Amino acid sequence: MNPNDGKWSRRDFLKATGTAGLGAVMAPVSQIANPTEAQKTIPVRPFGKTGAKVSILSLGGMFDIASNQIMMKQAVGWGVTYWDTADCYQRGSETGIGKYFNKYPEDRNTIFLVTKSCARDPEGMTRLLDRSLERMNTDYIDLYFVHGIYGIDELDERTKTWAEKAKASGKIRFFGFSTHRNMETCMLEAAKLGWIDGIMMTYNFRLMHTDLMKRAVDACVKAGIGLTAMKTQGGGSVKTNTDTELKMAGRFLQKGFTDAQAKLMAVWQHPDIASICSQMPNMTILKANVAAALNRADLSVRDTEFLHRYARETYSDYCAGCTKICESTVEMDVPIGDVMRYLMYYRSYGELDYAAAQFKTIPENIRRQMVNLDYSLAEQRCPQKMAIATLMKEAVDTFHI
Ligand code: SF4
Repeated sequence: MNPNDGKWSRRDFLKATGTAGLGAVMAPVSQIANPTEAQKTIPVRPFGKTGAKVSILSLGGMFDIASNQIMMKQAVGWGVTYWDTADCYQRGSETGIGKYFNKYPEDRNTIFLVTKSCARDPEGMTRLLDRSLERMNTDYIDLYFVHGIYGIDELDERTKTWAEKAKASGKIRFFGFSTHRNMETCMLEAAKLGWIDGIMMTYNFRLMHTDLMKRAVDACVKAGIGLTAMKTQGGGSVKTNTDTELKMAGRFLQKGFTDAQAKLMAVWQHPDIASICSQMPNMTILKANVAAALNRADLSVRDTEFLHRYARETYSDYCAGCTKICESTVEMDVPIGDVMRYLMYYRSYGELDYAAAQFKTIPENIRRQMVNLDYSLAEQRCPQKMAIATLMKEAVDTFHI
């Protein structure tokens, strides 16, 4: 670091963050609490009005946790007792959890277990719930989500009846949904329903300060809905592209944490966010996130200002998931928000195969045509001013048709 201007170079970062480097979602920092030595467990918070308390860090199962049983055991040891998966996650996520419970049945009641249904119809949900129970070697799910809704109209009276029956049968304790598109309106509408126990939504330092998101969170809190934040990195770790990024990350490193840890801490500063679901595919990232959860220090006003400034300067790199604005302006049903998310999986998580597989779930005729469509109105209306046409082309070039 240059002591005269407080700026960090790429070399400074590599030195400070170790071999995990800048491309990692999170790098360990030794200056803050070391969970191995501290023998602490991370805090818990109430999950809405359910009566359950959940660890503020949740082990996300989208990527490869299941093959790492030792890491799962260590997560329990550190108090990461809220586990999240879905019937459609690849790489045996649910079966890996089942393997774990087979080996450590005594841990089942310690874990707050979440899985999700990609089906919407009651018959499909019953089939997938039964399969999840069997795969995970358990007879109940703590919180069952309908996976990835776009709008509240994907849930109806039949969903409500199904949830009530599933609760009465003892197969699920609580019910809700996850959403990474049109999150705010989904949350606002859910708060009116009276039968949603929990929501997992995209929520991060970029989105949490908008009026709409604040209103959505307040409405859910008033309705007693438990909230779990996901996609809290807001698009990835520092890429050292801009002066602000370098200054911000340098400032955090001097204070003893990485920019990625700071982004988690920013979300935890909101007391009504019960937990953060984080993809932690290896012990390094798990340890760094646990260290951040154990760190009781709040971000200062100045730290928060740095995050704000960084969000402002890089807003056009981030898709806010407001698909109702852009997707209706395009001739075909191109799932613009989904494509943006697949690009994020590739760019920020390095998950090319997973992202490409997800991209290929888009109907082939759309994949073939999507580069030829006119996105000019969508780009005009996009509040993030994203280069939608260019990004659609990048997705096709990267993932192939
Ligand atoms: S591309 Fe723009 S308008 Fe469309 S979902 Fe993303 S941020 Fe919203």
